[in-house]
Amino acid sequence: MNFSNSDLYREITDSPLQVITHPLLSKQGITLSIKRDDLLNPNISGNKWRKLKHNLLYAEANNIKHIISFGGAFSNHIHALAAASHYFDFKATGIIRGEPQYALNPTLSDAQRWGMQLEFVDRKTYRNKEQDDYLISLQSQYPNAYIIPEGGCNHLATRGVEEVVKEIVNTLTIQSAQPVDHIFTATGSAGTLAGLVSGALQYTPHTTIHGVAVLKDAQYLENTIKAFVSEADKVSWYLHTQFHEGGYGKISRPLNIFCRKFIKYTDIPIEPIYTGKMFYALWQLIKQGYFVKGSHIVAVHTGGLQGLAGLKAQQKY
Ligand SMILES: *Cc1c(COP(=O)(O)O)cnc(C)c1O
Repeated sequence: MNFSNSDLYREITDSPLQVITHPLLSKQGITLSIKRDDLLNPNISGNKWRKLKHNLLYAEANNIKHIISFGGAFSNHIHALAAASHYFDFKATGIIRGEPQYALNPTLSDAQRWGMQLEFVDRKTYRNKEQDDYLISLQSQYPNAYIIPEGGCNHLATRGVEEVVKEIVNTLTIQSAQPVDHIFTATGSAGTLAGLVSGALQYTPHTTIHGVAVLKDAQYLENTIKAFVSEADKVSWYLHTQFHEGGYGKISRPLNIFCRKFIKYTDIPIEPIYTGKMFYALWQLIKQGYFVKGSHIVAVHTGGLQGLAGLKAQQKY
């Protein structure tokens, strides 16, 4: 690695903001734009790139050559980390929840092709991944490595996601377009939501930030936002917890049907785990008249499309 690589980091930034037309939107008087972070890079999925970027720059600046992180067997984060490590020349180790047979799935096949080393751990061990003694022992096993939490969620991740808000505001200003009233994201660990809240604080304090939780009983994630963003109460943000469709990775029939219709109508690819749930939630809210007529909503397309191959291989979608 050397600093000329910083140009490469800059290359993967500023995704398009695309206005969507749909009869429901015109009926309810809503303008909807989609921040196409799925187009940032074909292999380094949208928000996972945002969360990794400043972590990788940190590693580069500190001459760290090896990155370790955690994820499930179909993890978008593991996939993105493997691709980014290949692209930016880091050694990468993925600590994977589950059995070694998962190594053959599409996500982990890609990761290995990009040179990531995989270590499979049982669910019980995996649950320790945030505990100090586990992390200390992992660090002593790999003294020169940089350990990034599951999903890439740390303070450097927040900084990368803030740039999404900055880009949205800049684009709308340059186009003299209507300012954004609401920004939406799908929410898993809430690192992205925290970054957007923090970005709003800096660049557009009158915008409301919304997260659509893709897992059940997600109320506790509000604490994650407060932990990551000390002044979170200075902007308006909301975590919607009623749109999980049964829980993480659960694809209800109505959600499945919605996703297929959405793709057909808009020509924008989505998947049912994250972005599909967000758009399905957004559609329900718009139908209910949740937003004032004339509102401008920006939905962040966080990527995740690599997950489709795994869903198809498991015949879940
Ligand atoms: C990981 C992921 C999310 C959730 O991001 P968090 O920061 O964990 O809340 C949303 N969308 C996609 C496509 C993802 O891969």
